[in-house]
Amino acid sequence: MQFFLNYNAKHLPLRLYTALILTPNMVATQNFLSERVQNLAESETLKMARMARELRAQGHDVISLSLGEPDFDTPDHIKEAAYQALKDGYTKYTPVAGLPELVKAISEKFKRDNGLEYRPDQIVVSNGAKQSVYNICQALLDPGDEVVVFSPYWVSYVEIIKLSGGTPIAVYAGVERDFKPSPAQLEEAITERTKFVLFSSPCNPTGTVFARSELEAYAKVLGRHKHVIVVSDEIYEYINFTHEHVSIGIFPEVKDRTVTINGFAKGFAMTGWRLGYMGAPKAIADACAKIQGQVTSGAASFSQKAGMVALTTDLGPTERMREAFRERRDIVLSLLEEIPGIKTNLPDGAFYIFADISAFFGKSDGITTIGNADDFCDYIMNVAHVGLVSGSAFGDPNCFRLSYAASEEQLREAVRRMKMVLSPLR
Ligand code: PMP
Repeated sequence: MQFFLNYNAKHLPLRLYTALILTPNMVATQNFLSERVQNLAESETLKMARMARELRAQGHDVISLSLGEPDFDTPDHIKEAAYQALKDGYTKYTPVAGLPELVKAISEKFKRDNGLEYRPDQIVVSNGAKQSVYNICQALLDPGDEVVVFSPYWVSYVEIIKLSGGTPIAVYAGVERDFKPSPAQLEEAITERTKFVLFSSPCNPTGTVFARSELEAYAKVLGRHKHVIVVSDEIYEYINFTHEHVSIGIFPEVKDRTVTINGFAKGFAMTGWRLGYMGAPKAIADACAKIQGQVTSGAASFSQKAGMVALTTDLGPTERMREAFRERRDIVLSLLEEIPGIKTNLPDGAFYIFADISAFFGKSDGITTIGNADDFCDYIMNVAHVGLVSGSAFGDPNCFRLSYAASEEQLREAVRRMKMVLSPLR
């Protein structure tokens, strides 16, 4: 960019100009990238995946607990529905906001499971819940607008908000408060520039589930700020060990200005199918569909047909996955408890443990000193060959995130190794 400015590209002969653009070395030496993308953080999970690859190439047995993906396969009856859809000719574009039969099934699901009233014309099906988050940020944010984000937060929230010109404002609570910010903190964070409040329950990365009374208290605060939209990401809804999932959109104070995001990736082990959705006030749903219509169009037609079957048939496989996750959570928590210095809460949902390890800061094995959570995760990866993700990516530099979407055997071995390399630290 700088290069072209200096040379005043307007006056260069066309051939030379084209050559300058196309010379491969130029790409390496000049910076063509937008400020937007340069300000975007690289994914911490990808960094961990790279380290794991490198160690594996050296012959090490690496246990990766860094991924946000169920280790189960998609249930067979859902796969069958996709095969059938392909045979039936569902190989074309669909309406941008989704196939009418899926949109209807989602509207009914919101009513059945959540007590939420979203008409079919208030629903937008997307290529994953991540795109729903992207759509909402693009639809609502102008430069300088603020978004109040509960912290610790899912990494992509903050990056997508920034990419959309907004400013994330974190309201933080640590492990000792079960990672739940108080209603007073929420009240304090809201300004005239606040466009929306964003959080997930069950939460990635903490596994925290917000109870009915807690959501009601937030709704009361938001009831005093009518210019603020509420965006509730409920993609882990079906991986909840309390047996009560509550949607903030049921409370009268926020009922008409709540956007509820959900998807198929976690509860139905369908990460690769790229299917998510939102229910929103009509004007917001229309805006999101307009954006999606220009950027990607609708989600894959046969994924949508399979999604419809997932929502309208037996939740048995989902319940069995949830039970397996709960058992693994209990195993990992009890093993981690045996390592002095690791502090955990009781995560009631999702498949993550977000543990405070600040007690290790300043400690050393004589070669490496752990200064922060990034150092801690690098140390565990390099010495124990276990992949975790540093909490710094999620807004909490005292913590790491461990995904227990792995086999019991791998989990036991991972924590055994962690204990072995952490106990000699002084
Ligand atoms: N929200 C949260 C809180 C998530 O953890 C994820 C996936 N990691 C998503 C949204 C995106 O899900 P999808 O795969 O449907 O895009």
